[in-house]
Amino acid sequence: MTTKRLPAIFVSHGSPTLPLEQSPAVDFLRGLGGTLGKPEAILIVSAHWDTARPAVSAAKVPETIYDFYGFPRALYQLRYPAPGAPQLAERVAWLLGKNGLETDIDPERGFDHGAWTPLFHMYPEADVPATQLSIQWPEGPAHHVRLGEALRPLREEGVLIFASGGATHNLRELSWQRGNPVPQPWTAEFNEWLADALLARRIDDLVAYRDKAPFAVRNHPTDEHLIPLFVALGAGDPDGATQRLHSSIASGVISMDAYRFD
Ligand code: ZN
Repeated sequence: MTTKRLPAIFVSHGSPTLPLEQSPAVDFLRGLGGTLGKPEAILIVSAHWDTARPAVSAAKVPETIYDFYGFPRALYQLRYPAPGAPQLAERVAWLLGKNGLETDIDPERGFDHGAWTPLFHMYPEADVPATQLSIQWPEGPAHHVRLGEALRPLREEGVLIFASGGATHNLRELSWQRGNPVPQPWTAEFNEWLADALLARRIDDLVAYRDKAPFAVRNHPTDEHLIPLFVALGAGDPDGATQRLHSSIASGVISMDAYRFD
């Protein structure tokens, strides 16, 4: 347990098969839990829970949600039995409310795969209480930076703000080539633009990334997978350091990049 100031983290979760994979991204996630140590609680913002206005789960025993279809049977037999964090849910709703973001408390919502599949590698003991906050995808990047800013005090309260999505996410152009296909140039170029903008905290450019970044729409035909990144960005200090913790590209077009915001 730790009460030191924690960073906000963004990870790319890739395919739902992440728990069964061996890859550089999995090696990274396994190490990340050790590097960070165990927080008091984790607030997860996943690309896979989208609601009209913010919602936070107060489930005491969150279920493992299998929100994917046609994957190997072994995946449906895994569970991520981390305890819920109802007190944290109350605190989140209060912090957001104070900042004009009225927030619903959902008594039941469990962990979707954007939440549990990376945590499965990071904290395999599943002993850190955790809860999820939804995204409001149509509200766009600036709204989610604001959410992150409102949540920033949690970093001093032993809470790890953990955003899970995808630095790039175009499933229509996946390469089915075996092994490790060469990254598509248009994915690599966007991925590097994103890294440069994040490391320099060019927030105006990032919020307008669909106009500013090369191949933005091709890498994010819909951008629900990039949206969690903006929450982590907002939760970092205005003059805080940003680190690119991991970079790899799976299936030619799926960036598995991860960032840390202090
Ligand atoms: Zn996903």
